[in-house]
Amino acid sequence: MVLGEAPMLMVGTDPLEVDKLLRNGHLRCPGCEGELRPWGHARSRDVRGEGATARSRPQRASCSVCPQTHVLLPAFMLARRADSAAVIGTGLLANANGTGHRKIAELLGRPVSTVRGWLRRFACRAAHWRLTFTTLLLALDAMAAPITATGSAVGDALQALGLAAAAATRMFGPRPPWQFASSASRGLLLGPAPVAAVAAPSSSVPAAAAG
Ligand SMILES: [Zn+2]
Repeated sequence: MVLGEAPMLMVGTDPLEVDKLLRNGHLRCPGCEGELRPWGHARSRDVRGEGATARSRPQRASCSVCPQTHVLLPAFMLARRADSAAVIGTGLLANANGTGHRKIAELLGRPVSTVRGWLRRFACRAAHWRLTFTTLLLALDAMAAPITATGSAVGDALQALGLAAAAATRMFGPRPPWQFASSASRGLLLGPAPVAAVAAPSSSVPAAAAG
């Protein structure tokens, strides 16, 4: 049997807790809901945070039903990005507040081209993320007030993201907003292609909140 590599499964940030969930059969395949089993590790990677750089080696899991393996990506990371979700999020917010990409690169200590890449990628899909996070907000809080337009697609998307993160905190307890954004986008906040469906908050958020 050839095992294919499916998209990441976003998990909590405590590797011991993730390992426990996996070994106890509490993690499900994003494709078919089959039980996931330990399947070694993905390659190690450096994740540049706001201060230090952390070495991370995400676990890998195989599905007991379909022929898929999945990388279990901690929610402080985004898929295929060397910078943490919090660092990238800080850059996105600064830009929405009027700071240019060169200044953001200087403030965060990142290459100008890297920051420009984040901003472009997010801007390309801002309408998608506005819709995704608005849908999630309403799923988390049916009484949520309407989102007011900010005058820019990126601003609207980030506002929806922030309100959905706050609603998730009200419902499930505190957690960093950019970890929420990473989990809810399945790590694809700066991904290349539209995500087919929003992860249902009832299954993805509590599971990802573990650890
Ligand atoms: Zn499966």
